[in-house]
Amino acid sequence: MATTVTLNTGARMPIVGLGTWKSPPGKVSAAVKAAISAGYRHIDGAYVYQNEAEVGEGVNAMIKDGVVKREDLFIVSKLWCTFHEKSLVRQACEKTLSDLKLDYLDLYLVHWPMGFKAGSELFPLDSAGETITDDTHFLETWVAMEELVDAGLVKAVGVSNFNKEQIEAILNKPGLKYKPANNQVECHPYLSQEKLVDFCHSQGISVTAYSPLGSPDRPWAKPDDPSLLEDPKIKAIAEKHKKTSAQVLIRFQIQRNIVVIPKSITPQRIQENFQVFDFELTAEEMKTIVGFNRNWRVCPMQWSLKHADYPFNVEF
Ligand code: NAP
Repeated sequence: MATTVTLNTGARMPIVGLGTWKSPPGKVSAAVKAAISAGYRHIDGAYVYQNEAEVGEGVNAMIKDGVVKREDLFIVSKLWCTFHEKSLVRQACEKTLSDLKLDYLDLYLVHWPMGFKAGSELFPLDSAGETITDDTHFLETWVAMEELVDAGLVKAVGVSNFNKEQIEAILNKPGLKYKPANNQVECHPYLSQEKLVDFCHSQGISVTAYSPLGSPDRPWAKPDDPSLLEDPKIKAIAEKHKKTSAQVLIRFQIQRNIVVIPKSITPQRIQENFQVFDFELTAEEMKTIVGFNRNWRVCPMQWSLKHADYPFNVEF
């Protein structure tokens, strides 16, 4: 089983990466170091996670110690919604690079198709609790993303949380210079994303699955929400393979050729989540797991339902 996915740029993206959303600044450097020691070569971050300086500390410590070279690593970050104006994109990327203390990113994603009002508030809200929109369309933002590639700041550009129509809008943009290399979307057995994944793959766009374990630490979790890690049907499949539910959830994505980025700050779990290359789910098990789909979202971005570019109002 391949441990990388080849992007439409020719670069190889490690199929398992470490997620860092909600990883507190005081813990994330150690988590990054533990991950690199365990064999991870891909770290997923974002400006909005407010921990990029500490992620960079972990990465740079491992480079300095000679454990890895920069070119062995695949570092991902994301342009936050308040930086969609063309004139803000480069400085946003440069801020991320200076926080990380790196001179390039392997992949830089437009975090959401929706632009928010520029300014110091990451989630500018109106009196009704709705995010305040800016006037920049993501097609304009995309041009500034392409310029980052030409400037050597990023090796590849992609999108996140884009639906099929929004990806098609980029692909059909007159004068398009670089196709998105990746679409990072929520993906797990309760939101199996078959149609969107098939579409992206048919267009040569790789897919990354976020919240692959169902994001039990999401801040808005409710006690009655479904739990993938506790699902008895997933547990039963895991027991058959003498693996954990988390390992089955990660392996499920790998076998679909989907990049997967489980988050953990717990060293033992970080290791566990990488021990997924020594077993195989049967075709029958894969079919069963896909059948658990219930279109349930961890990240519905409920403050932006009225945004003109809200991505989840269409089937996929
Ligand atoms: P997740 O990876 O599905 O779940 C993380 C949670 O699972 C944490 O509470 C973690 O606990 C726990 N966990 C990890 N491994 C485990 C194991 N082996 N056994 C039991 N529990 C385990 O959730 P996520 O953080 O939402 O998603 C992963 C990454 O995707 C993010 O960190 C981020 O990088 C990215 N993401 C991107 C977007 C986007 O809009 N593009 C949105 C959401 C997420 P501990 O940490 O305490 O060990």
